[in-house]
Amino acid sequence: MLRVRPVRAFADNYIWLIHAPSRPACVAVVDPGDAAPVIAELKSAGLQLGAILVTHHHPDHIGGVADLLRAAPVPVVGPDDDRIPDRTLTVRDGALAELPELGLAFKTLHIPGHTLSHIAFWGHDSLFCGDTLFSAGCGRTFEGTAQQMNSSLERLRSLPPRTQVFCGHEYTAANLRFALTVEPDNADALAYQQTVAKLRAEDRPTLPSELALEARVNPFLRCDTPAVRRAAERHAGATLADAAQVFGVLRAWKDTFR
Ligand SMILES: [Zn+2]
Repeated sequence: MLRVRPVRAFADNYIWLIHAPSRPACVAVVDPGDAAPVIAELKSAGLQLGAILVTHHHPDHIGGVADLLRAAPVPVVGPDDDRIPDRTLTVRDGALAELPELGLAFKTLHIPGHTLSHIAFWGHDSLFCGDTLFSAGCGRTFEGTAQQMNSSLERLRSLPPRTQVFCGHEYTAANLRFALTVEPDNADALAYQQTVAKLRAEDRPTLPSELALEARVNPFLRCDTPAVRRAAERHAGATLADAAQVFGVLRAWKDTFR
């Protein structure tokens, strides 16, 4: 399994540092929205930057790229999107994002919805999924349709259950409040809420999550289960034709949920 460490940025972002298996002092950074905390972590842990991976163009995911490149000119791997400057390697769906500096390669998954060019990096039992899948929740559909986002999430759900899920934000506790509004009797979600409350009380990350757990607790990965469909239909006051429609209702519901 990969050794990965979180770097906190802004209010609730995680920037992930992936250690090279054969050169543990060399790391790749995922979604460096801010350079300062990354540079501080590299310095204090005696690490050297080998590559930058970017899942999507939002400033809180790419804002630190230019400053990191000034400190170390390393490859920048990201999706085909001109809103992401400084890219040296563009990866499209199904392509291998090869990081020779680290002796690692990840498969690129194009997962539109949060943004149209959003990608995830998957490999070594790990998924770096930016703002598409969160623990117990998912990103807002800023650019894509509900159908696109639902297809992207279904695709992530089909990865091996033991996959470790490295998301871009610490939203788990708030997401679980919504998940338990949708499925108040979900025993796995109730148990997870206890675990998450304890971790947060100790100021520890709830991430990475595991895909097997997400499949049991995350309503956005459960749009085809009867309890979630019933809750969405009750909320919408209408019969919903398919999982994508259930997803659309859940996403709009969560957008205004407090
Ligand atoms: Zn985003």
